Amino acid sequence: MKFLLILFLGWLIWRLLRPAARIKTPPPPEHGGEKMLVCAHCGVYAPEREMLRAASGRYYCSPEHRAIEEESA
Ligand SMILES: [Zn+2]
Repeated sequence: MKFLLILFLGWLIWRLLRPAARIKTPPPPEHGGEKMLVCAHCGVYAPEREMLRAASGRYYCSPEHRAIEEESA
């Protein structure tokens, strides 16, 4: 009977520790070692090669967002 109690306690500790271990490791901001940039208009994150650079030096996720920012500037 004592063996079952130890087994149950071990399972209980394992169940309690597992979610905490998952929270401790957040997803890395790097996308396959690639630099991630934020769109200056909508704030979406995308890899550097997918971003469009405006004349101002800021990065945008799409030509539409770049055009909006260039018009308002
Ligand atoms: Zn955008």
